[in-house]
Amino acid sequence: MLFPTSIAGSFPKPSWLAEPNKLWAPWKLEGAELEIGKRDATLLAVKLQEDSGITYLTDGEQARQHFVHGFLEKVDGIDFAHKIEMGIRKDRYKAMVPQVVAPVKLKGRVHASEARAARAHTKNKLKFTLPGPMTIIDTLADHHYHDRVQMAFAFAELLNQEALALQEDGVDLIQFDEPAFNVFTDEVSSWGVEALTRAAKGLTCETGVHICYGYGIKANNDWKESLGHEWRQYEQIFPAIDASPIQHVAIECKNSHVPLSLLGLLHNKTIQCGVIDVGSDAVETPEDVAATIAEVMKVVPKERIIATTNCGMAPMRRDIAEAKLKALGDGAKLARERFG
Ligand code: ZN
Repeated sequence: MLFPTSIAGSFPKPSWLAEPNKLWAPWKLEGAELEIGKRDATLLAVKLQEDSGITYLTDGEQARQHFVHGFLEKVDGIDFAHKIEMGIRKDRYKAMVPQVVAPVKLKGRVHASEARAARAHTKNKLKFTLPGPMTIIDTLADHHYHDRVQMAFAFAELLNQEALALQEDGVDLIQFDEPAFNVFTDEVSSWGVEALTRAAKGLTCETGVHICYGYGIKANNDWKESLGHEWRQYEQIFPAIDASPIQHVAIECKNSHVPLSLLGLLHNKTIQCGVIDVGSDAVETPEDVAATIAEVMKVVPKERIIATTNCGMAPMRRDIAEAKLKALGDGAKLARERFG
């Protein structure tokens, strides 16, 4: 089928589970009730995507507070009790981050519950997102390794363990989220892609990497204003990614200043092209979605196009996210009728 669909990863959580419309939103439940709440929210996210005709479903990242810290919470060697403020993404914004204080090691499975819950309740393909090694090391403070690259490879091994286990759980596509790739562009080719490849080692399911200019929050929107009319950061990193064994590249296309011609640098990748803007509450029409797909088709053969959201929808209003989800499903259907 042409133009399969997927969301980048996250979907807004119900207001009974976590405070709405914010990143790092505090949970509203605790203990056993929180675990049940996470499972119920996962099933809701799966159902909403199925009803909208989405092809690769995700768990909506309902069981994690943040796309990086959700993984780190299950890692030994990290001190969460003494977080410190750090400028992340080259000081684009400040975040309270935990500290690495000893060699890192998984405490056990990280995402088994939500992956299995999602798998048990849909026959559609299942995509699962994990943070990439470079993005992880940019979202915590290092008081042990004293070497960014060594620490990234330590995390790549842990990611690989969890990714292989998710594959066993029945996940069809593992996607590593690497927003740090377009911040530390020089390091992508020197070690970033190699660390990512280590994280994906031995996987026989589909694999992907999501790179982006961030959620539609103010710090990101201000940064984007400073980047000028054309965003060409990807030009520096696409050749290294194209040479890697990672199969999908997920990037934003809708209302993006990235020249779509840069996608031509990815000669053999499936492109998950963002056709839904998560930085705006204006809901796209199916016609808008089909038009963005048509633009991408000028550069990428249609057989290699998946339609997706520009980035995660975690901080969005839930009613708007649901409307955008429907526009994504309906727009891809329209594109199939028109370009199939
Ligand atoms: Zn993103």
